[in-house]
Amino acid sequence: MRAWERSDVAPIIEKAFVDELSLHEIEQLLKSDELWALGSAALELKQKMYGKVCTYIKNMILNYTNECVVECEFCAFYRKPGLGYLYSPQRAAKIVEEIYKRYGIRQVLIQGGVNPKVDIEYFETLFKEIKKRAPKVSLHALSPVEIDFLSLKHKMSVKEVLSRLKEAGMESMPGGGAELLVERVRKILSPKKISVKRWIEIVETAHKLEIPTSVTMMFGHIENVEERAKHLYELRELQKRAPGSLAFIAWNFEPGNTRLARKFKIKYPYGGYELLRIISVARLTFKDLIPHVQAGWLTVGKDVAQLALNFGADDWGGTLYNEKVIPATGLSVSFPKAEDVERWIRGAGCIPKERDNFYRVVG
Ligand code: SF4
Repeated sequence: MRAWERSDVAPIIEKAFVDELSLHEIEQLLKSDELWALGSAALELKQKMYGKVCTYIKNMILNYTNECVVECEFCAFYRKPGLGYLYSPQRAAKIVEEIYKRYGIRQVLIQGGVNPKVDIEYFETLFKEIKKRAPKVSLHALSPVEIDFLSLKHKMSVKEVLSRLKEAGMESMPGGGAELLVERVRKILSPKKISVKRWIEIVETAHKLEIPTSVTMMFGHIENVEERAKHLYELRELQKRAPGSLAFIAWNFEPGNTRLARKFKIKYPYGGYELLRIISVARLTFKDLIPHVQAGWLTVGKDVAQLALNFGADDWGGTLYNEKVIPATGLSVSFPKAEDVERWIRGAGCIPKERDNFYRVVG
C-alpha cells in the first residue's frame, strides 16, 4: 500500500497522478497536515521523471546594485537612491570573471534593485563584458520588475526590451518579483511593484521569445492558504498558455531587518515544514509541466533541503556564490563548494549530477 492511500487527501492525490488539479483541490492539499502522504506521493512522481538523480549548478549571483525605488516592505537589501551602490559594467564583469576562474561557474544570476540610474545600454554593456571575460557562463538575468522598469524608462514594449537583451547575451530570466501572484498580498508587500497582470505578461512575452524562465514564490508573511493555492494555480495556467518555465523555486520570507516583520509582528520564518508542504503540492500540481522543482537550501539550510529532495524536489539549485540579499536579513549563510553540494545530495539518498543553465546534465 502506498503511504498516502489512507490519508484524508488520498482521492485528490490519486487524481493528481492522472489528471489536472482544480484550484480548490490545490487548496485542500495545502491545508492538509498529512505531510508524509503529500511528500511520498510527490517523491513517487519525481522518481518517475528522474529516478534518483538530483541536479545542481555551479553559479553565482550578481547583485549589480542595491539602490531601488520600489521599496518592498519585506526587503532588507535595498537602499534609497544615493545611499547604496551601483557597480559599473566593467567592475561587475570583473567580479564575475574572478568567481568564474576560481569555481568554474556555469551561470550568473543577475538581479538588483530598480535603480533609476541604469538603462538598457548599461545591461547591454554588462552582458557583453561578462561574455568576453567569462565566455562559458550563461546569463540568467533580470526579473520581470527590472524589465518593466526598462520598458517604461525607454518607452519600449516588453518585447523590444527582451529582444535587445537577448541579442546582448541574456539566455534566461529569473521570475523574481512574483512573491505571491495575488493583488491583495502585493498591495501590502510592495505597493509600488508591478501588478499580477504585468508580471504574467512579461513572463509570457519572454517565453514567446524563447527566453526560458524560472518561477518563484515567497511564502510565510501575510498570505493565507487560499492565496498560496492561487499562486500555484496562476503559475500552472501561465505555463499552459505559454510554456517556457523550467523550474519552480519557493522560499520563505526572512523577517530579519524588514519593515514587514515589524509592522505585522512576524517574529520567525515559516521555513522547514511549510516549505516541504509547498514543494510537495507544487510537484503534484505541476508534475512535468514545470519540469523542475528546486530544494531551496538558501533560507532553510542543507538539512531541510535534503528532506525536500525526498518530498518532490529534483534540483538542489545553485551554489549561489556572492549572494547578498539573504545575508542582509541577518541570516548567516556560508556558500558551499560543488563538492559539499554533491556530498549533501548523496546524503539525501540521491545521485548528484551537475547541470547547465537549461537543466541539461553536464560533465
Ligand atoms: S525586493 Fe527587489 S524590487 Fe523590492 S525593494 Fe528589494 S530590491 Fe527593490
